[in-house]
Amino acid sequence: MQLATQHSIDLHCHSVYSDGSLTLSELVEHVVQFGVETLSITDHDSIGIHHEIAQSGLALPCNVLPGIEISCSFNNREVHIVGLNVNINDTGLCDFVSRQQDCRRERLLNYAYKLEKVGLKGVDEQVTKLSAEAVTRTHLSQILVNMGYVQDANRAFKKYIGRKGRAYVAMQWPSIQDVVEVIVNSGGVAVIAHPGRYQLSRKQLELLMIEFVEAKGQAIELSYPNIEPQLIHWLTDKALSLNMYASQGSDFHNPQWRWVKPGFFPPLPKAAPPVWQLWQ
Ligand code: AMP
Ligand code: MN
Ligand code: MN
Ligand code: MN
Repeated sequence: MQLATQHSIDLHCHSVYSDGSLTLSELVEHVVQFGVETLSITDHDSIGIHHEIAQSGLALPCNVLPGIEISCSFNNREVHIVGLNVNINDTGLCDFVSRQQDCRRERLLNYAYKLEKVGLKGVDEQVTKLSAEAVTRTHLSQILVNMGYVQDANRAFKKYIGRKGRAYVAMQWPSIQDVVEVIVNSGGVAVIAHPGRYQLSRKQLELLMIEFVEAKGQAIELSYPNIEPQLIHWLTDKALSLNMYASQGSDFHNPQWRWVKPGFFPPLPKAAPPVWQLWQ
């Protein structure tokens, strides 16, 4: 494992608008304690926090870039695409996000139905009480823990709600092309999020990168906690040959997840052009 070092730019994290645990003021106050000066908040299928920032007009203790993390389908996998510096008032983006949020609510209710079938009753009632703008399987795993059905979130994923779980609900998310298009049309930069977390072979990863670049995607995360040094190496070569930019982010959700700290991940490879060159 390559050693994580501290960075002032963190371009991937979550808030209470999706599956993070911190509100806007809690999140920005938390990250500055770790030395983060520029933060992109990239909630799952939600830009609500950026509307909150725009409306509140409050001065924040760090620079916040508008971002989002959108779920899409590739090769029967759920792949995440981050959009950086999107225009949060773009109607195409707003309509798209609202559809994704509806799909997410429906998905969790389908999960509740499947869970009931395998003997875990009463999850639907808890799902309808969720207040996040974008509800996720993180919320569902917390419900299963709170109801005493599993000991922890990891087991909830393993046993029930993960891709190989007993109650898995497959999703037909939008395609890579559709997701990149909505990001680019709103003036944003599309970034492949945490490429090592999809259990794709190297061949499939390469196909993902090629399809993504053909769709006008420009960047890929080459640094995030736990990325393997060999993968960084391999991805850097591919990214350079495809003229891609490199992004970095902690994917911070919750201070209780002690293994993830804002601004902490391996340094970007020197050869890779950082994505912020695109807006500096
Ligand atoms: P969703 O977008 O609704 O499919 O939820 C995906 C989220 O669930 C991810 O962004 C992670 O935050 C969380 N997650 C995925 N796999 C696991 C796991 N094995 N243990 C805990 N959380 C997970
Ligand atoms: Mn998440
Ligand atoms: Mn993700
Ligand atoms: Mn994320």
